[in-house]
Amino acid sequence: MTDFDEQLQADLGAIREAGLLRELRRVDSEPGARVAIGGRELLNFSSNDYLGLANHPALKAAAIAAIGRFGAGSGASRLICGSLAPHHELEEALAAFKGTEAALGFSTGYATALGTIGALLGKEDVIVLDKLVHASIVDAARLCGAKLRVFAHNDLDDLESILRWARERGDSRKSRVLVVTESVFSMDGDLAPLREIVELKEQFGAWLMLDEAHATGLFGANRRGLAEHCGVAGRVEVQMGTLGKAVGAGGGYVCGSRALIDLLVNRARSFIFSTAPVPAQSAAAQAGIGLIQSDEGRARCELVWHRVEQLKDELAKADWPAPAARSAIVPLIVGEEDKAVALASALRERGLFVPAIRYPTVARGAARLRVTLTAGHCAGDVSRLAAALATR
Ligand SMILES: *Cc1c(COP(=O)(O)O)cnc(C)c1O
Repeated sequence: MTDFDEQLQADLGAIREAGLLRELRRVDSEPGARVAIGGRELLNFSSNDYLGLANHPALKAAAIAAIGRFGAGSGASRLICGSLAPHHELEEALAAFKGTEAALGFSTGYATALGTIGALLGKEDVIVLDKLVHASIVDAARLCGAKLRVFAHNDLDDLESILRWARERGDSRKSRVLVVTESVFSMDGDLAPLREIVELKEQFGAWLMLDEAHATGLFGANRRGLAEHCGVAGRVEVQMGTLGKAVGAGGGYVCGSRALIDLLVNRARSFIFSTAPVPAQSAAAQAGIGLIQSDEGRARCELVWHRVEQLKDELAKADWPAPAARSAIVPLIVGEEDKAVALASALRERGLFVPAIRYPTVARGAARLRVTLTAGHCAGDVSRLAAALATR
């Protein structure tokens, strides 16, 4: 073995020793409510495909039709010659869905955060993050070079004191202040106090970027997200999200003003210096956005909420502490890393796939099983999970 591999093996050994080694599990089926792993069929409680659209015939048909017309690849970045019609149609659909002037698609949600924050902020600015925001936002905040401040999770007093500090810090005419939070937090399933955050950022002249990754498709009268649910969509400067979760396809987006989108086209490096998404991805996402807005989308959304209520009821009967979840993410806090891993593996033996989430994704000693419920689950599926958890 070369010195290179020896050093990496030592790194891996340290990760393994800490009980934190991660490995890929190959899935030999569609990633639906039931998945084939290692020659067995498991009931899947790990997917973010909340509305069960990833395998929907309408999305598959849209992807196939786009391949037929526009090919498998996009050939270049959007600004070179890859700005194919399906990307533009998706953006028009997104802007209409969210009720904004314009929208821009990216290859992934991760690339969206990276490009957008980098386009808006520089060294002289301040970025303020909730302690539990997604890694893509943390990485973007570090990369953009702005002064980084973190407020305790959902803590409005802490946010206010940071905003006050930022305002008093100097030349507020030149220095921008951007607050970034999620609407539904991905590992806890709890919600940001969005109305209050909007009030605060306006009081202090800051901007707000909201990541609706786990809320789009599930919250609001038109399922646009938590900003719609709270009636503040028109007051959020930057609305971002992923097209890979409830939308059922892949990619990321920003919705906002025409000026915002034009600036991103000129400045977002993950947009400019990256090959455009393949046409099938944008076409499938557009079909997903269409479905979310349809009666079928409404029905699928209602189904998810029924399953969430059912699981909470059945867990209460089995004496599990009530999860804080107000979303399709139901975290079952276990505590020790080993215990969470053992529980997940016992569930797998019983044909149930529920991921154990450990440090560094969550804090040490706050390991958990993260159950996600989808429109693809039937009542019997949820009962099977609850029964298995009852005999933990
Ligand atoms: C999944 C996720 C992302 C990243 O989106 P991808 O399309 O998967 O890259 C960003 N933010 C949050 C909150 C997420 O949960």
